[in-house]
Amino acid sequence: MDTTKYTLDEKKMPKQWYNIQADLPEPLPPYLHPMTKEPLGPQDLAPLFPMELIKQEVSQDRYIDIPDEVLDVYRMWRPTTLYRAHRLEKALDTPAKIYYKYEGTSPPGSHKPNTAVAQVYYNKQEGIKRITTETGAGQWGSALAFAGMCFGVEIKVFMVKVSYFQKPYRRIMMQTWGANCIPSPSEETKSGRDMLAKDPDCPGSLGLAISEAVEEAMSREDTKYSLGSVLNHVLMHQTIVGLEAKQVLEDIGDYPDIVIGCVGGGSNFAGIFLPFLKDKIDGKKPDLRIINVEPFSCPTLTKGPYAYDYGDVAGLAPIAKMFTLGHGFIPPPVHAGGLRYHGMAPIICHLLKLKLVEARAVHQLATFEAGVQFARSEGIICAPETDHAVRVTIDEALKCKETGEKKVILFNNSGHGHFDMAAYDAYLAGKLQDYEYPKEKIEEALKDLPKTEG
Ligand SMILES: *Cc1c(COP(=O)(O)O)cnc(C)c1O
Repeated sequence: MDTTKYTLDEKKMPKQWYNIQADLPEPLPPYLHPMTKEPLGPQDLAPLFPMELIKQEVSQDRYIDIPDEVLDVYRMWRPTTLYRAHRLEKALDTPAKIYYKYEGTSPPGSHKPNTAVAQVYYNKQEGIKRITTETGAGQWGSALAFAGMCFGVEIKVFMVKVSYFQKPYRRIMMQTWGANCIPSPSEETKSGRDMLAKDPDCPGSLGLAISEAVEEAMSREDTKYSLGSVLNHVLMHQTIVGLEAKQVLEDIGDYPDIVIGCVGGGSNFAGIFLPFLKDKIDGKKPDLRIINVEPFSCPTLTKGPYAYDYGDVAGLAPIAKMFTLGHGFIPPPVHAGGLRYHGMAPIICHLLKLKLVEARAVHQLATFEAGVQFARSEGIICAPETDHAVRVTIDEALKCKETGEKKVILFNNSGHGHFDMAAYDAYLAGKLQDYEYPKEKIEEALKDLPKTEG
């Protein structure tokens, strides 16, 4: 029998994260201050983040030690399993080998606690008692709530109001782990009160929830703010995924030709591909292909310009050089909520600009079709976000069928879809639709890019 599951021994779990900044052929463009538009210094970020995370954000060290306390929590579900998708390969009748790293076995059900646990730990080390954050459908809020529980740090989550009422299960997870989750807009911040005065029935938005979480963190000494994707330190914490995958593949004498992942802010995919990208940069695997998959309705990497833009709708967050659809862009309501961000991790954008990675956009219906095919072969019901990676994995495996090539494909299975069954229900009932590329809305939003020198 061919082996299906490859899991590292717990004792062999990597003890350092990998920092791509040490190996970039050109350095990243600097962040700019949202008011002055001057390059950002560490002190500008100090009200929001603990110093250790600010240091990691700009560190040029190739490897950074994972603290023992963080490793102890990781061991609750790590190392995660690398699967060989024998049944999918058979269903597709492809000569390609398909592997996936499954991050859905963490307590919150996705890759997100890999960074949440590290972030809460560093905050606690620096005496912080409370952390605020925002969440849309609740994946990030639930990961941070879990991490707060692990270290006894109070977590307050501003959850977009429509999701708070329409998607209660992740809210209940947060509350079960002891976090305080409130609907945004709320009466607790000026940003929230101003909005409610204007529109008492405001359904909320991620941008507004960010403003509320940032405002509260800025106004209290004992409180800081936490972000679940996009930033350099977040991507670095996720490299535990790729380091484990690389080690296990090395043990069995295999190596991917193509690495595939879905991208919202870019953290789960960067987490798996960065350790392999090092080999491409070093010339050990020059023909390695890395494919970022995004929704056709929020085509940041495939259609956006590479420009300086704000990280949030309100214009409070740092300005970053990225592919962007404009900070005011509100994408169509596709079910993959985690992929509806207007920008993208500066690291991924920089790598795309340097042509070290590729990008592809896919339609919603095609992703659910792939997700159902995956569930009917491999069994796992993936998050709608993850189905984007599954789509392109299947497409590449079918290309191999045509050419007869025995390529090795690796994708990151970022999480399960057990709280997204309403989306599958809509798909199975034929009620889902594809959205056209929202050209006019994007052109409108791009008029508001900040004026900078870059
Ligand atoms: C949040 C999320 C994503 C998208 O975020 P990234 O930072 O791009 O990884 C993808 N998959 C799952 C399961 C998520 O919860």
